[in-house]
Formats: sequence, C-alpha cells, structure tokens
Amino acid sequence: MSDLMQRTLVLLKPDAVQRRLMGQLIARFEAKGLNIVAMKMLKVTPEMAKQHYAEHVDKPFYPSLEAFITSAPIVAMAIDGLDVIKVVRDMLGATSGLNAAAGTIRGDFSSSRQMNLVHASDGAEAAKRELGIYFEDSEICRYEPVLTPFMR
Ligand code: ADP
Ligand code: MG
Repeated sequence: MSDLMQRTLVLLKPDAVQRRLMGQLIARFEAKGLNIVAMKMLKVTPEMAKQHYAEHVDKPFYPSLEAFITSAPIVAMAIDGLDVIKVVRDMLGATSGLNAAAGTIRGDFSSSRQMNLVHASDGAEAAKRELGIYFEDSEICRYEPVLTPFMR
C-alpha cells in the first residue's frame, strides 16, 4: 500500500438511482474519508457506453450491458484520496453481487452480475481515461478536507 494521492471515477449505475440508493452509497464514500471533487447526474448515451466499456464491446454480454447502462440516469463522481483506486474497488466487492463479500457495496445490496450498482476505475490508466469521458478539468472542485481523527 503506497501513500499515493489518486483520483478515480465512480458511477452510481441506473439501478442505484432507480432503487433510491444514491444517498446510502454516497454516504459510504464520505464515511470512508474520501473526497468527492465532482458529481453530476446524466444519461449515458450508447456512444458513451461504447467508449466507457471499450474493453467489453465485443463480449457476448455487451448489448445487454449497454441497454442497462443507458436505461436510466446515472450519477458520475470524481473521488480523491490516498490509494483511492484500490480503496474504492475494495469497497465495491467482486463484480457479481452473488460473489461479492458481505460488507461490500455489491455484497450488501446486489444479487446480480449485471445490476451491481456502482462502477469504479480499476487502475490509474483507466481512471484517467474514464474521468475524461465524464468530466472537463474545469469541473473538478478541489478543496481542503477537514481531517477527522480516524484519518490521522
Ligand atoms: P467490474 O465492474 O467489476 O470492473 P467488468 O469490468 O468485468 O466488472 O464488467 C463491467 C460491467 O459489465 C460489470 O460491472 C457488470 O455490470 C457487467 N457485466 C460483467 N460481466 C457480465 C456478465 N457476465 N453478464 C452481464 N453483465 C456483466
Ligand atoms: Mg471493469
């Protein structure tokens, strides 16, 4: 584990919005001590979906994934923190809600391998690329976090 300040892209997927879980999910990232530095609600277009899921476009599940991710609005967030890319992936749990450990977001709220509530970048290169799909640099709102005792 390094002491590296990073930024990651997190999406609350259509199922999170439709199930009214946005507040509970955002609260988990705040409780962990991460810094949300940009946030917007939007509808993903098929073009954006193909860009975002470029590595999956040729897979058999892609048409269904595109239909899902474009089916209702999402909430996109840029989140800063130490080792935040790994920290957030660990908070999400395994891809399928059925395999995800209890205590993770997917483990606690999902029983589906597709409708698994949250996306997060899986590495530094992916984070940079994916942040560029959803945010202009000028939309990032950096600020000084208040340090709480558990973060020192
Ligand atoms: P992750 O989101 O954990 O990085 P992947 O990159 O493997 O997972 O897949 C991207 C998204 O595609 C998943 O989060 C899930 O919504 C969907 N997905 C993955 N595998 C399947 C599958 N076999 N069937 C349907 N949807 C899938
Ligand atoms: Mg992935």
